[in-house]
Amino acid sequence: MEQTPPFPTPEELKSKLSEFMKTNFGDRVAFTTMTQPDTAEAGTEEKPAPDSEDGFEFNFLPREIKAHLDRFVIRQDEAKKVLSIAVCDHYNHVKHVRSLEKSDPARAEETEYAKQNVILVGPTGVGKTYLIKHIAELIKVPFVKADATKFSETGYVGGDVEDLVRELVHKADGDVKRAQFGIIYIDEIDKIASASNVAGRDVSGRGVQTTLLKLMEETEVPLRSAMDLQGQLQAALEFQRKGKANRQTISTRHILFVVSGAFERLKSQVSQRITRGQIGFSAEPVRVMDNELFQHVTTQDFIEFGFEPEFIGRLPVRVVCEELSAGDLFDIMKFSEGSLLKQYERAFRAYGIAISFEDEAVRLMAEAAAREKTGARGLLTVWEKVFRDFKFYLAGSGISQLRVTAELVRQPKMVLDRLLVEGHKHEAAALDQQIDVFTDTFRREHELELTFEPAARQRLVERAQVEKMSMPDLTAHLFRDFHFGLNLVRKNSGQQSFVLPVSAIDAPDEFLSDLVVESYYPARAENPAG
Ligand code: ADP
Repeated sequence: MEQTPPFPTPEELKSKLSEFMKTNFGDRVAFTTMTQPDTAEAGTEEKPAPDSEDGFEFNFLPREIKAHLDRFVIRQDEAKKVLSIAVCDHYNHVKHVRSLEKSDPARAEETEYAKQNVILVGPTGVGKTYLIKHIAELIKVPFVKADATKFSETGYVGGDVEDLVRELVHKADGDVKRAQFGIIYIDEIDKIASASNVAGRDVSGRGVQTTLLKLMEETEVPLRSAMDLQGQLQAALEFQRKGKANRQTISTRHILFVVSGAFERLKSQVSQRITRGQIGFSAEPVRVMDNELFQHVTTQDFIEFGFEPEFIGRLPVRVVCEELSAGDLFDIMKFSEGSLLKQYERAFRAYGIAISFEDEAVRLMAEAAAREKTGARGLLTVWEKVFRDFKFYLAGSGISQLRVTAELVRQPKMVLDRLLVEGHKHEAAALDQQIDVFTDTFRREHELELTFEPAARQRLVERAQVEKMSMPDLTAHLFRDFHFGLNLVRKNSGQQSFVLPVSAIDAPDEFLSDLVVESYYPARAENPAG
């Protein structure tokens, strides 16, 4: 892409760029506009990115980070420990270099340090992302996650690897300084092992490894992507105005990289070697990669797996996140602060329903989730299936309590139907009570006594339920003329209390006018009530 001819006018440039993009990439390309929020406003580009007093604060001990993770992440103790140490080492080093930068810039440049980038090995849904996310939140650094499969060497398939770095700026609200201490997390890294190209996709694993390697070492990433039309335009405008281009870059020197993947083949690779060479190991193939087996994984194993030695060399910290058992999934629901159980409690509470869980029910759901083989993600699937109809039908049904029992988990539909019948009854009872509120108010306001026959009460409740009206609305609507009409009756006959039959509900106007007419012709009246 040509970048440095004398700049045309903004309009020309805009149409040229659009043309260029269209002819080269057709409609497949979506323009990214990951500019800093503040560059969008004209005239404010020169404002330095907001700086947290130039102070990157980091004052954690590994055990404090682990304690924080323990609140949310069940199991994965080894991973928690290893990550806590890596993060502390990394950011303590960052702190050290930054203070050197002030006192002795030359030494800061020279300081030798092997970055503590991490490989997390483990199947899906066992908490890998969750761990990193909670670390980033605790230590207040921006965090970006992406799948390695999205990248290609040239950056045109799904995204440019460098976009990850720019995305950090976005996550740091445009604060480039803060972005430079962020964490980039790349999942499915095993899919870019060069020996195993992803089927159906023109991705060269080796090429992506090289591009990533550059980031993991130290490099400067331009703040504006070549694919970012708006950003380029902004730069051009700036150039026009000031006669110099402001090429802001983001340094990756202090960015921590965490990569992860399931590394399926690695298990058999290592367990075969061990069963071949070691006494005491049973001959059966090892099915899960646990911390014990992982101790035997060497750098050579990763190279055999399909990684470039330089690439894997940049990832010195390696740890396993173990598979989760049904028991672990139970613990996640019961004890993790971010658990689904708590989310559901909140969701139901929003509908005025207090939901509570029998342990046996939680256990059953954990077992069903474990059968999904997607780690804790299985919980989402199971819960959604069990509770979908409950959320839909119970919200607004008058039910205020939901006890989740084993029976409910086994036969959600049956239990729901039963609850709805009960709920209907509850609602009816509440509506029935409101009839008394109506007659009491009527007596107070008009000194007239209304009594509904039992069948009439029932009809009122039915109508309120069928017509989805509140009892006050329904009675106000049906009996809007009654105080007036009954007052006339009282004047004529002295009658003060009235018994209302079903007909008074089905045809209130007719019922009322009959009463009034009768009160004018007492001879024909048979003295109805009172
Ligand atoms: P992955 O290992 O594929 O990165 P995630 O970390 O994204 O999986 O897990 C998906 C969700 O499952 C998390 O958001 C979290 O709610 C839950 N989860 C997974 N593992 C655990 C765990 N060990 N403890 C508590 N919750 C977990």
